[in-house]
Amino acid sequence: MTTGGKPRTTILDARGAAPERVLFGLWNEELGEALRGFGLLRYRIRQLETALYRQKVAEFAEVTTWPKELREKVAAGFRVGLPEIVETFRSVDGTERYLIAGRDGQTVETVWMPEGDGGEEGDSGSEEGDAESAGSKPWSRATICVSSQIGCAVNCQFCLTAKLGIIRNLSAGEIAGQVAAVLKRQGAEPGRDRINLVFMGMGEPFLNYEAFIAAVRLLAGPMEIPESRMTVSTSGIVPGILRFAQEKVRPKLAISLNAPNDVVREGIMPITRKWSIAEVMEAVRQAPLRQKERVTFEYVLLGGVNDKLEHADEVVKLVRRAQFPAKVNLIAWNPGPGVPFTMPSAEDVARFQERLREQGVPAFVRRPRGRDIYAACGQLKKTGSSQ
Ligand code: SF4
Repeated sequence: MTTGGKPRTTILDARGAAPERVLFGLWNEELGEALRGFGLLRYRIRQLETALYRQKVAEFAEVTTWPKELREKVAAGFRVGLPEIVETFRSVDGTERYLIAGRDGQTVETVWMPEGDGGEEGDSGSEEGDAESAGSKPWSRATICVSSQIGCAVNCQFCLTAKLGIIRNLSAGEIAGQVAAVLKRQGAEPGRDRINLVFMGMGEPFLNYEAFIAAVRLLAGPMEIPESRMTVSTSGIVPGILRFAQEKVRPKLAISLNAPNDVVREGIMPITRKWSIAEVMEAVRQAPLRQKERVTFEYVLLGGVNDKLEHADEVVKLVRRAQFPAKVNLIAWNPGPGVPFTMPSAEDVARFQERLREQGVPAFVRRPRGRDIYAACGQLKKTGSSQ
């Protein structure tokens, strides 16, 4: 959790003994400030940033641009704090779901999807730029799904994470650290490899706004992932959308819509009682879009609830009234234990998509990734043998 925009990185060891500070998550002035007592020149801070965010070192001993004595002095009071993958689940489709240990040993979930899930179709930015990844890799591009909180307070009825309630916010270092840990494991390098990020894992990013946006700055800054390759999804937290609209560095925006009107939406997303669809749309209109940018409406199709053709017609009207460029990503609901919905049939999904398309609304179907390992959309709930 952050206070006043500064990531809190002090941790206590397991016995609650001497405080030790974590450096991963700090950069620029914050890093200089944390290490002020050592009298380091600016170039030493830059060397450390390269080691933390490009090389992704786990120990000070790996910061080979620093003399040994300096490494030892700093190591006496600080930890590198690169988050650690403690468990990996691999799907038959190549998707990997990780449990990544946070500062207090609590785990958070992060998903690696080689070749993405189709969610970026129809976007500008995410498909251009870098050369295809080197031929030795079994993927040419990949998407990392990042969590912003442990658990979630929003209580969407179709989502397994909601069952946890909110446990705690993640810090900026813990959010960006998920990406660093996964890139390191995969040997992937932004700039050389085509990496997209989606803030669609556990939690509501706009209810942990300071840490989320600090993580974005870190990812777009020293970690060199262009903001045009990032997408944040919100359930419709209006004050968060309004703040986001003012940001200079900001990912693309996705609204988790999931219903054609407030009545249906209230039944599956109680947050609608606080902010109606119209209020969310009005807030989104405040965000200046970049050239060719579109806002994404995420729409989880729940069998018999929101997947009828008349619902599709209402969605078309909503998108037209929005008055900003938009597209719709359809996701067939992924089953989870204790969640009382049914999957829509493949035919209903195809019909829904067609109905949107024939009325001029760009609509794409996101491929389910990693269903067998509970990595798919709405399935993240700390499920694993260590839990
Ligand atoms: S869908 Fe997202 S916002 Fe809704 S409960 Fe799940 S994690 Fe929270």
